[in-house]
Amino acid sequence: MTQINENYLKLKAGYLFPEIGRRVKAYSEANPNQRIIRLGIGDVTLPLAPTIVNAMVDAAKEMGTSSGFHGYGPEQGYSSLLQKIIEHDYTKRGVTLSEDEVFVSDGSKCDCGNIQEIFSLDSKIAVVDPVYPVYVDTNVMAGRTGEVKESGHYANIVYMPATEANSFEPDFPKEKADIIYLCYPNNPTGMVASKARLTEWVNFAKKTGSIILYDSAYEAFIQDPAIPKSIYEIPGAKEVAMEFRSFSKTAGFTGTRCAYLVIPKELKGKTSKGEEVSFNSLWSRRHTTKFNGVSYITQKGAEAVFSPQGQIEIKEQIAYYMENARLIREGLSASGYSVFGGQNAPYIWLKTPRNLKSWEFFDELLNKAQIVGTPGSGFGPAGEGYFRLSAFGKREDVISAIERIQKM
Ligand SMILES: *Cc1c(COP(=O)(O)O)cnc(C)c1O
Repeated sequence: MTQINENYLKLKAGYLFPEIGRRVKAYSEANPNQRIIRLGIGDVTLPLAPTIVNAMVDAAKEMGTSSGFHGYGPEQGYSSLLQKIIEHDYTKRGVTLSEDEVFVSDGSKCDCGNIQEIFSLDSKIAVVDPVYPVYVDTNVMAGRTGEVKESGHYANIVYMPATEANSFEPDFPKEKADIIYLCYPNNPTGMVASKARLTEWVNFAKKTGSIILYDSAYEAFIQDPAIPKSIYEIPGAKEVAMEFRSFSKTAGFTGTRCAYLVIPKELKGKTSKGEEVSFNSLWSRRHTTKFNGVSYITQKGAEAVFSPQGQIEIKEQIAYYMENARLIREGLSASGYSVFGGQNAPYIWLKTPRNLKSWEFFDELLNKAQIVGTPGSGFGPAGEGYFRLSAFGKREDVISAIERIQKM
């Protein structure tokens, strides 16, 4: 028989979301008349904005004409979309990029997972704990880690805990790490990095010769104008960082699929002989070999996000989610909970009351208030004792959830 990739057997079973599903199902079967409110989801709920839909309908019609038909497009994305991304997301913020430094893809999850192919298997990764599980699991699959330990940590990964004790601002890795994953605004904690802190990260990476993989999938939720939206707002960041961006949370594209990855040409790695190679050229080779481009229709929809009317419509959606976040934050605080995040991100991270374990609080919230959230321990060992609520729900559900929690 053919041998399997045994690294896959090191993965902790896909535990979190199936387990939530199992517990919710058991509860609703036993209590068929109770209405359950789901605030656990990390998915948007508002429909696509009309300007985006119209652009996609027009593009679909164009595809049905002989003059407007598009077959394979450029793997890296159509120039018209690349230009809008650069102009809107970077030039306006004082960052210059060329079109061949931006790679359009079908999602940041895939990009975050695939990027590790262009690093040596010997490179060591550092992640914040709690963390978006994709960064860890894709490195486990590749064989860059050891087995998972009793504590829930994998051997050969450097963990940077983010807890109330350090105000959710992780320290630099204690051991040498080649690749540092950062996500701001953060999923799951909802925290952001100040300009001063990001500057320290960039300087740290320069000093230690590490590279930063910066996931800014939630940049559109930043409300405070002093908080950087891109790591390239920090001088020197182009030499040490890649940036992942997505239309998923920004414009409701979770089911439509479009994202992009920025790799500046200044970002270099080295061969075993010590020769410098640009990561941009490696990724370009990888992307054009293994990917055939995002559909024309989807890219036209993404372009419409940057139109003046598209901007008005997506900003209204973000304001709707951020008002949900405010209601959850203030409602929980008023009931005596310690809450974090939710001011520049669509996630509220709370400390479980009475030192309950994350799953104990999950059960309490489900049984007493029929609310589903996400146990913090599912995002890493340092998430134990915390709980994530999402602001992506419907307003009426958010309001009833707060009322139920206040009555608990
Ligand atoms: C939702 C999310 C993404 C976006 O993923 P897509 O594949 O583009 O939908 C990226 N990073 C984090 C941390 C996320 O929560």
